[in-house]
Amino acid sequence: MIVAALIACLGAGIALALAAPVLGRSMRPAPATVLLTAGAFVVSAGTGFIACVMCFETIAGIPAIAAACGWSARQLHSSSPAPWAGMLAGAVVSVLLARSLISVVGEGRSLWQSAAACRRMPNVAGLVIIPELESPRAIAGFPGRVVVGAPVLAALGPRHRQALIAHEQAHLIAHHHAYLQLVEVATAANPILRPVRRAVRLSTERWADEIAADQIGDRRVVAGAIVAAATVTSADATITRLAFAQDEVAYRVQVLLQPRRRSLPAAAVLGALLVVVPAGAVATTAHITEGTFERAHARLVHPHAPLTRWVHSVVVTAHPAGPMPDTAAQ
Ligand SMILES: [Zn+2]
Repeated sequence: MIVAALIACLGAGIALALAAPVLGRSMRPAPATVLLTAGAFVVSAGTGFIACVMCFETIAGIPAIAAACGWSARQLHSSSPAPWAGMLAGAVVSVLLARSLISVVGEGRSLWQSAAACRRMPNVAGLVIIPELESPRAIAGFPGRVVVGAPVLAALGPRHRQALIAHEQAHLIAHHHAYLQLVEVATAANPILRPVRRAVRLSTERWADEIAADQIGDRRVVAGAIVAAATVTSADATITRLAFAQDEVAYRVQVLLQPRRRSLPAAAVLGALLVVVPAGAVATTAHITEGTFERAHARLVHPHAPLTRWVHSVVVTAHPAGPMPDTAAQ
């Protein structure tokens, strides 16, 4: 049953990776970001948890360890996956756990460094203008800053400047760095989820576009600002980065030139399922494992249950003071 739960979790991960680009484009950006991030987190944490349980049951079934802990090794062997499967799960989860820990440390250090950089920057309404030709970007901090290159600002008209700054401020207000960092750690823990990372990045950009469009009151102005900023900064980008950026920019502009879309109900249901299925697999695994160890413990407490019951009945019958308390079950 635990192997089935692991397969369900892995299957949900593959389905999420395949569906992420479509889900990201078929839903409103805010719910798409939340759902994709939650799905990636639950899939990676759930897969890791189930693999850890398989490994733990295998180790717990080693006779010396089972005896020391008061468990029946025979009961554990009868309920657990094959030992080779448990050891394989342990080896894989060790590597993935190390990767995710490295990622957590890296993301934590990155956040700490960007917060420190924000503290050193002037805080004039959260906006920092630098002389270099630099793509506008939001730097996470407490509070964060929006950094814009002076050449970019000089190349834009007042409405486009306003739209660009509103877009970057939206990243800070909606804490988009938290979603991106969570999905980065989830991808490190489960490399199958790499397409989810790109889908979340695109949906956070669209989310910021929508907030900026609400503030400016004109979707076309935001679309124009995106194109103008991309044109100014494209000379500074590498070929690969430019290809990615152009692909994303073209899609975002196309979306902004249309009326605001609603989420497709089928996409929302599929996204919710991809969160619920791995969560259910984790809950089932926890429930089954608890039962397995309770039975393993009970069997060791009553290693000769019929004989114990017979001795107990004889003692109760023969005792002049009546029935004695049943200490065997304590
Ligand atoms: Zn952005």
